[in-house]
Amino acid sequence: MYPKTLSDLIESFKLLPGIGEKTAERLAFAVLSFSEADCEKFSKNIENSKKNIHPCKKCGTLTDEEICSICKDKTRTKDTLIVVEDSKDVFLFEKIGNFKGYYHVLGGLISPLDGINPEDISVDNLIERIKNGKYTEIIVALKPSVEGETTVQYIKKMLEGYDIKVSKIASGVPIGAE
Ligand code: ZN
Repeated sequence: MYPKTLSDLIESFKLLPGIGEKTAERLAFAVLSFSEADCEKFSKNIENSKKNIHPCKKCGTLTDEEICSICKDKTRTKDTLIVVEDSKDVFLFEKIGNFKGYYHVLGGLISPLDGINPEDISVDNLIERIKNGKYTEIIVALKPSVEGETTVQYIKKMLEGYDIKVSKIASGVPIGAE
């Protein structure tokens, strides 16, 4: 039987995705061998992420500032916007590095069957943003699913009559692979 403090630490690691009992034990023992400074830094980093990271007021990407560094970057092309479901997609695009426009994170997809309507996600601010911006092309990068398609159709409908091209690409890990 592990001492309670240690089994508590093991339980904490098991909260992480893909971490089972064995790996959690290994990680907990690794922590035990940390220096005091590293240990403090480790727990501070966890605490700070929770405290300081929130969606960007403009695009919804996770940031520790009010407006994220991408939105603040005036050198980016102002005519293209990529619409994604999750912040993780933004970081993925940035890692690939060949897109130089701006982003918008929806934070979900429209799914009336699950009770998720346009007002539940960040789609109406997206439309506002597009209407007030200089965008000529909106690239929608959402999961190929009924919900994704419903969301694209909604965006297209809301932008009817505007001279803005709405195109679609597949999203998620495949982008990185292609
Ligand atoms: Zn932003």
